Amino acid sequence: MTPTVEKDKTEGTTWDLSDLYQNPEDPSINQDLQRSLRRAKEFQALYQGQAIPSLEGPDFLRALKEYESILEEGLKPFLYASLLFSEDTQENQYKALRQRASEKWNELENHLLFFRLALIGLSEEQRQSLPRYEPLEAYEHALQFFCRFRDFTRGEKEEEIINRKNLTGRSALANLFDEYTGSFTFRLTLEGVEKELTGSEMLALLYSPDRDLRERAFGVFLRHHKQNGLVLTSVFNGLMLDARVEDEIRGYPGPMHRTHLENELRPETVDLMMEVTENHYSLAQEYFQTKACLLGIPRMKNSDIYAPLPGGEKKIGFEEAKALLLKSFQQFHPLFGKIANESFERRWIDAGVRKGKYGGAFCSGLTPSLHPYLLLNFTGNLRDALTLAHEMGHAVHFYLARKQTLLNFDPSLPLAETASVFGEMVMVRELLQEQHEVAARQALLCTEIEDIIATVFRQNVLTRFEQQIHDLRRDHLLSSEEIGDVWWQANSRLYGDSVEMIPEYRWGWSYISHFIHSRFYCYSYIFGELVVLALLARYQEEGTAFLPHLIRLLESGGSDRPDILLARVGVDVNRADFWEKGFKVIRGLIDELKSLGPWDRICIDGDI
Ligand SMILES: [Zn+2]
Repeated sequence: MTPTVEKDKTEGTTWDLSDLYQNPEDPSINQDLQRSLRRAKEFQALYQGQAIPSLEGPDFLRALKEYESILEEGLKPFLYASLLFSEDTQENQYKALRQRASEKWNELENHLLFFRLALIGLSEEQRQSLPRYEPLEAYEHALQFFCRFRDFTRGEKEEEIINRKNLTGRSALANLFDEYTGSFTFRLTLEGVEKELTGSEMLALLYSPDRDLRERAFGVFLRHHKQNGLVLTSVFNGLMLDARVEDEIRGYPGPMHRTHLENELRPETVDLMMEVTENHYSLAQEYFQTKACLLGIPRMKNSDIYAPLPGGEKKIGFEEAKALLLKSFQQFHPLFGKIANESFERRWIDAGVRKGKYGGAFCSGLTPSLHPYLLLNFTGNLRDALTLAHEMGHAVHFYLARKQTLLNFDPSLPLAETASVFGEMVMVRELLQEQHEVAARQALLCTEIEDIIATVFRQNVLTRFEQQIHDLRRDHLLSSEEIGDVWWQANSRLYGDSVEMIPEYRWGWSYISHFIHSRFYCYSYIFGELVVLALLARYQEEGTAFLPHLIRLLESGGSDRPDILLARVGVDVNRADFWEKGFKVIRGLIDELKSLGPWDRICIDGDI
């Protein structure tokens, strides 16, 4: 659905990229591209062939710093080109610049690859026996991270073969999935007229106020996947086998092991988190029953989960959202307020809706020497105001992590959503204070709770499904019926009696691209969200005394393992009661929703 913008609300809210380059023809772009490439070649000529572990402390530090500096310089034109492209994806000049920047970036990376492999190749003993040199300690974690993959990295020749064969193996299957499902169109009757819609337009209809339309659209969408089940099932089977074969070649003990290493989490921590989440499925069920009452229906179908509440629609202009954000961030912490203010003042935000602009929203913080940029498609919905707060939270995180050097800058995936979720929550509290109409308050809380359910409970279901089909695939080729059964059971455990799944949902697994592109990615969403909710609970208990801990965590960027960074602020992710804290926050939100009357007859008859 094409969003419509009320005129003048976001006009003029474009970003100013002149901190990077003046325009796409700025000669500095080429100069930077060429200089960084030249430096990469010089770096290679100087260090390739040298035994990295035998470098003296100051020399090793110099090499690491130079490596970071070349990467930073090479990333700047790449970031600029990507931002321009997202501003208008149809503009040929931008497309050409992006292509050129990414080709140069690729070339630069190839010249530096030897160094990365040398760091991965450092054994634990070699790393331990590196000469003690204090300034090197800042890189301790980065070096540990590289080392962790040492046992699972094969020789240069084998690595090259795996890489090249991936083009016709895993990547070819994933591309087939993308292109094939991307070509799907769906025929649906809308207001008496038959229309042809894309997949994302069909899924957007799950937010329609028309119940029948929601179910019809979802049904048509899934049936079409079923009709193409032969290809989809084959792609799934092929990818799972590919994963198993590569795991065996590399010696990974199980299908999740590689993801755990990348996320720097212990398998036991993830197992515990998932168990605790499962023990709270009843919370999600309670919410679904409550929402059924709000919708005035006895029981929800799974096509009703994102239905808007009657009377809950509220429009918020961009200026209003900006004012609310600045007020709430400033009240929360002066640093949050300062960074948000600077982002607006210095125009780091592109908020309007334009043809050709990249869809959705993001916050880009590529390197410590550059400030973040935010892109939104602000249409004036409540959801958009929360998205603004979410992306601004990311901006705060990136901004604070600029204290780190490049190798320690990016927060690892499990911690990447910390500030963004805080930002969103802070904004929700502000909106609740401003909002006096019950229906609008209910809608606000529902949006927030549905977000959490989608990030915590649903991702748990996806991960359980993925674990099970990978296990089954070790044994035999899976039929679409068998995959559908596993999917149905995993979802039934979450929904219980509270939600009726439409029969076509047996094919619900077949359109989720995370299964195709990044296996077991989904559990890091659960981790991230529950950590933030638990931190939020601490904030609610301790008040402003907790804030210095939060700021310290954000400033740490990716300078250590997530469990260590969290331990520094007094959080132990290996204790079940830590995970319980997050569920208490969800409990609180549901109670708050339920405390807002008035309830209609169905709700009084039922027990909510
Ligand atoms: Zn985010």
